[in-house]
Amino acid sequence: MTDKAPIQKSDEEWRKELTPEQFHVLRQHGTERAGTSPLNAEKREGLFRCAGCGAELFDSGTKYESGCGWPSFFEAKDGAVGTSIDKSHFMTRTEVHCAKCGGHLGHVFPDGPRPTGMRFCMNGVALTFEPVSK
Ligand code: FE
Repeated sequence: MTDKAPIQKSDEEWRKELTPEQFHVLRQHGTERAGTSPLNAEKREGLFRCAGCGAELFDSGTKYESGCGWPSFFEAKDGAVGTSIDKSHFMTRTEVHCAKCGGHLGHVFPDGPRPTGMRFCMNGVALTFEPVSK
């Protein structure tokens, strides 16, 4: 899933740059516990970036309250994410990763709101939030 990403680093390099929680999610396909991310409640205007490489992933205008326990968006920025089929845990899901560094972000489901009908269910630990300064 990550062999075509423009940014390629060894696990050792990633471990130096990321927190253990970030490393687990981004590089080991982990999932944070539902309801634990401070970004669930983030409602300010701003930009969500990849916690691994800083790539711009989601605008605050596409965030919505899905009730699933993870920060949810109905649309990613153009070309910012890639997907792959994930058949782990006895389910078939669509995995979402950062197009730039290949870091695992979460999954996307076809039960989101208009206009896209998509729910990008993201691990908050895989994101950083940059509020618009006013
Ligand atoms: Fe990234």
